[in-house]
Amino acid sequence: MSDLNAIGDQDNWICWLCDQKVDPDISVNSDLGPSVDSYGAVRVKKGADFVERLAHRQCNTMKGKISPVVPWSKDLLVVDPSPIFETVERLRKKGGREIIARCPDENDANQASEWLLDRLSRLAPELKLSTQISPGGGQYVLALKLG
Ligand SMILES: [Zn+2]
Repeated sequence: MSDLNAIGDQDNWICWLCDQKVDPDISVNSDLGPSVDSYGAVRVKKGADFVERLAHRQCNTMKGKISPVVPWSKDLLVVDPSPIFETVERLRKKGGREIIARCPDENDANQASEWLLDRLSRLAPELKLSTQISPGGGQYVLALKLG
């Protein structure tokens, strides 16, 4: 259990996939209980060491057997949102910039940008990610950029 407690403290008892609190006192056998997720795509910068993260038992990818899904907030007005986890992993490998969503107006785009950066600060704290908002086609395009 000491491993689980250390990883829980490292992630402030927040599930790295769904971003909700994990109760350290719930049984590890319950769906909402704490577990250690070691999804293989999450690596430290140089080398292939797995980074272990805290996840609810029901969110755990079971060592990569299922793809991690990071949900967008339902409070945001976004059109054509890209899957967050996959986009971040592509940027982690290749760098550059990717369009991650479109928003009907600039205010929505700012809200989505703020939410996304906050979410990513917990999902991928080791990456320097920033957002760019630009008008295009009567909408506002939200792009995510590494560096
Ligand atoms: Zn979760």
